[in-house]
Amino acid sequence: MSVFQELVGQAEAIEEIQRASAAARSIVAASDGSPAHSSAMSHAWLFTGPPGSGRSYAARAFAAALLCSGDEPGCGECAGCRAVLANNHPDVDIVSTELVTISADEVRSYVSKSYLAPSSGKWRIFIIEDADRMISRTTNVLLKAIEEPAPRTVWMLCTAAVADVLPTIRSRCRNINLVTPDVEDVARLLVERDGVDPKDAMIAARASQAHIGVARALATDPEAGLLRKNTLDALLSVRGVGDAVVAAQRLLDADAMHGRNANGAKKKGSKASTESDRDAEAREKMMDALGLDSSGRIPASVRSQLITDKDNAKRRQTRRERDMLDRELIYMQSFFRDVLVVQLETGINLVNSDYEQQVYQRAQMLTPEQAVEKIDALSLARERLKGNVAALLTMEAALISTR
Ligand SMILES: [Zn+2]
Repeated sequence: MSVFQELVGQAEAIEEIQRASAAARSIVAASDGSPAHSSAMSHAWLFTGPPGSGRSYAARAFAAALLCSGDEPGCGECAGCRAVLANNHPDVDIVSTELVTISADEVRSYVSKSYLAPSSGKWRIFIIEDADRMISRTTNVLLKAIEEPAPRTVWMLCTAAVADVLPTIRSRCRNINLVTPDVEDVARLLVERDGVDPKDAMIAARASQAHIGVARALATDPEAGLLRKNTLDALLSVRGVGDAVVAAQRLLDADAMHGRNANGAKKKGSKASTESDRDAEAREKMMDALGLDSSGRIPASVRSQLITDKDNAKRRQTRRERDMLDRELIYMQSFFRDVLVVQLETGINLVNSDYEQQVYQRAQMLTPEQAVEKIDALSLARERLKGNVAALLTMEAALISTR
């Protein structure tokens, strides 16, 4: 199965990646003679597209194609392809962060590494997920490496929009833009790859609004389904201000429990599952290495490092909570989007087809203008959360606005 098969609805992007991979092969083949430079290949790429369109997967598929030894680049069968997709190819580094920002030190260490020759003899690849989480100081560290790259190094940056990256970087990257896939394509992927029942796959693909990762979670992870159900039920329970306050608190409590359960159960494939454990473990290991026990005195020289670790753990937790709340607000927005679809008699499919009855009820209670107002109010809540406004207050205000 080709590495591109999971890249549903992205024919244009796939074509460009395949062209570049073919050109890259001829560069590798010609490297003993003249440096054959092909315009189809570049040292720096910027993958853009809406969340869930698969931009970081697209970057990994490209990396696989560059390191593939099969007949067609990106065969998905050879050792190179398989290692890249399993995230354990020695020539591929994936820079992702669970923190709010990517640190300059981290990028600096990758930049030094980028000047080493690749062990495969082909390419050394760095994929920076969430490139928008680099602050400008960090970006400057990267700029130099992109301006004067080692001959066999390829940088792949992923972010939602081209504008997320500084112009100096942007102008040196080739852009591959991914689009929101069709709901039908996402559903088909869930059926073919994950063995999901076609009817459930369609409900999940619609409810996720064609976000591949969310669709898969909704179809295969009962907790993800529960999060959506809790959110929509909370939304429907609100009649007055008092209800909104209660519902907001209940949602936040459920989130906290969701995080705790995930930590306790160590569920495979769930990113949240081991983060706290990992934080605690890292701290303990470091205390050990320094010959300290938790009751002992900490020398000033190591104190700052310990504080940094603790801060990082806290920031990871914060980001996890914010991501969950954002997802809940998206679910609420999708409900009013459905209300509007019904009111305007557009004949477009509902996102929440399993809440059809409630959507129709609400469509009769509100005017289309009111439905739009609620969608806007929820957008505002999402903006506020990004701006670090207190979570409980934001959710209360959001739920009050949906009455
Ligand atoms: Zn291959």
